[in-house]
Amino acid sequence: MVLFNTCCIRENADQKLYGNLGHMKALKDVRPDLRIVVGGCLAQKDKSIIQQRAPYVDVVLGTHNLASLPRLLREAETGPAFEILEQTEVFPSALPARRKSGWHAWVSISIGCNNSCTFCIVPSVRGVEVSRRTGDIVSEVQELVADGVVEITLLGQNVNSYGRDLDGTPLFAKLLRALDRVDRLQRVRFTSPHPKDFRMDTVEAMAECRTVCEHIHLPVQAGSDRVLKRMKRAYTRKRYLDKVQMVRDALPEVAISTDIIVGFPGETEADFQETLTLVEEVQYDSAYTFQYSPRPMTEAATYGGQVPKEIVQERYERLTSLQDAISFRRNQRHLDAIEEVIVEGPSKKDPARLSGRTRTNKLVHFDSGPAPEGSFRTVRISKVHPHFLEDSGRAFLRAGAQAPVLAARRRTSGEATCSSCN
Ligand code: SAH
Ligand code: SF4
Repeated sequence: MVLFNTCCIRENADQKLYGNLGHMKALKDVRPDLRIVVGGCLAQKDKSIIQQRAPYVDVVLGTHNLASLPRLLREAETGPAFEILEQTEVFPSALPARRKSGWHAWVSISIGCNNSCTFCIVPSVRGVEVSRRTGDIVSEVQELVADGVVEITLLGQNVNSYGRDLDGTPLFAKLLRALDRVDRLQRVRFTSPHPKDFRMDTVEAMAECRTVCEHIHLPVQAGSDRVLKRMKRAYTRKRYLDKVQMVRDALPEVAISTDIIVGFPGETEADFQETLTLVEEVQYDSAYTFQYSPRPMTEAATYGGQVPKEIVQERYERLTSLQDAISFRRNQRHLDAIEEVIVEGPSKKDPARLSGRTRTNKLVHFDSGPAPEGSFRTVRISKVHPHFLEDSGRAFLRAGAQAPVLAARRRTSGEATCSSCN
């Protein structure tokens, strides 16, 4: 069986799927017992188009019915099986998972999204926001930890509104605190908080919870109020900057990353300049930068003023070179610092070295003897680059639960907390 789990957030994923299905046709001709399955957002968006364009696909299922896959495969014994539902009825948390990593796990806390950003196809293909019960999340994390997981990343389109559909009030900060009590869990990350819903209670939980890493991904999308309004992001540049200040006041060493779209319809050079000045002002550690692509079922796709491709490309290059310079500057703050990393495996740049990630989500390549994935090492940063750090001495095994330098940097309301005493 070959299963394509698809994404349709940007245009190029669409094109990839149909190209890949073309290759599968040749394989299916010589192996009629091969089962081809297409699932995920693109299947949800394209519905019957997949079977029209690739009639040899055996199963098409959408984003709301992953659990139906075994049944659909059985049905496919007698002919193509197709099932797309419009809403998730049961949170798919009970599904057994096979995880690639023994030490890290992605944990879904909510699915869907209740916002209506005009560029975004997610609400159409993922439906309304549904939160998973806190008890279920905590139990899953406990089981993961019992299996050797030390780091989790909580997933949701707008993690800060987690729980609103359960209790009428957001419960994300409470969830972070509940997970912080899970014995032997070392690191908690989350993605993404929406800036409009990112509040002090979450910042306090980030600062006070031993496990929550000093990194926040806070997607801004654009620096101009005019563009933000046309995107329906529900915050202004000033409100966004206030949120950045709020998190830096509580966690001075926090690393901040973001998502930015270049070439949103109607974006003028003056608007784009405001994105550049915002990037300068915030000094992001890193940014995911995207060229706007019109998506079906979105409001922005109907807007006038689509920006010509060559202008988008040119703005994109100016933005990425500015961000690279800032990332390099931000990374220089780590020179000579002693940092704790979790070993991710051999370095992709040089397999004789290892790679690991700091709590601030910085990738570090370092010299070391063999070390199992998921183990902790303490490194001293001797060289920095825009996208990674290096330690060319030999990393040593950590002594405590957390590197002392980082522990001392945590601060809540002016009070230093030391994780080894928590
Ligand atoms: N829920 C998250 C975003 C998830 S989508 C949030 O609101 O922040 C991930 C990123 O893809 C977005 O932040 C945006 O920068 C980018 N993206 C989404 N739709 C896009 C489009 N039509 N064109 C280009 N980039 C897009
Ligand atoms: Fe899309 Fe994120 Fe906006 Fe939801 S909040 S509509 S997922 S960009």
